Amino acid sequence: AYPVISVRNLSKSYPLRSWWGGKADVFRAVEDVSFEIRPGETLGLVGESGSGKSTIGRAVTMLNPPTSGTIAFEGIDLARLSPQALCRTRARIQTVFQDPYAALNPRMSAGAYVAEAFRLHRPDMARSERREAVASLFARVGLDPHFLGRYPHQFSGGQRQRICIARAIALKPSFIVADEPIAALDVSIQAQVVNLLQDLQDDLGLSYLFISHDLRMVRYLCHRVAVLWRGRIVELAESDRLYEDPRHPYTRRLLAAVPLPDPAAERARLAARETTNPAPGRPGDLVEVGPGHWVAADPLPEETDR
Ligand code: ATP
Ligand code: MG
Repeated sequence: AYPVISVRNLSKSYPLRSWWGGKADVFRAVEDVSFEIRPGETLGLVGESGSGKSTIGRAVTMLNPPTSGTIAFEGIDLARLSPQALCRTRARIQTVFQDPYAALNPRMSAGAYVAEAFRLHRPDMARSERREAVASLFARVGLDPHFLGRYPHQFSGGQRQRICIARAIALKPSFIVADEPIAALDVSIQAQVVNLLQDLQDDLGLSYLFISHDLRMVRYLCHRVAVLWRGRIVELAESDRLYEDPRHPYTRRLLAAVPLPDPAAERARLAARETTNPAPGRPGDLVEVGPGHWVAADPLPEETDR
């Protein structure tokens, strides 16, 4: 089977403007990034602010296409699709963003917002069928279907993120980019939303690219983790391995900055996960230091400039 998403040599540059307003140069936000995500897998993407996480997230969904490199979804190169085929394929690739309030339309009821996915992509669907589908999506994400007619401001932050998740799963995607999906939520609500994402993964066989700066949550949720430093992946490994035996100096620094309690429950949960998937392919210009554990040989972060 193909990986759900396969990213090869992805680079993304943004033009820099000079003081006279002309194009001066480009800023390389992401450089030569490669990884793949298997069916049912969650890949964590961590790295400091500005390291290029969201740029990668927007590139793999083609919201903001790469400058170079290829993105293959279920084995199909997205750049080769016709606009219509890309539109159809994109229904199966969804994004959940950090700020659900910004994602929602304040003048659209929650039910109408979720129903919009069907109106856009399933125009043939009868109204009654649509209403039923939206109600069952509400129930699926833990919202009372009686609240279908309510507007975004009438929900709590966690509920708003559930609405966004309902819309994201409406068209039965196989891949979701979750870009800091819990960062804006109360700590007490974060675990609920993460558990919902995990339940949906189990039920629907979803794959996630989970972008987060919450290293504890990443360890809890992600099967593998990629560490991004200044637009490059410096280390990629199974979560346990990465957290227990970080090899790249930047990863060590990142982990050292955060106290990481290691409760037995988390370990048992990770141990119980299926490990039947074959080792993933070589993620890029990295050296394999153990099975499936890849590290940038050099340069060391301390010693280089961008
Ligand atoms: P954060 O953790 O703060 O969300 P990030 O890792 O998601 O950061 P990106 O948003 O991908 O980082 O940005 C990477 C770099 O690219 C940053 O230096 C940012 O300023 C720059 N950048 C992002 N989008 C644009 C744009 N549209 N035009 C110019 N530069 C951009
Ligand atoms: Mg970001």
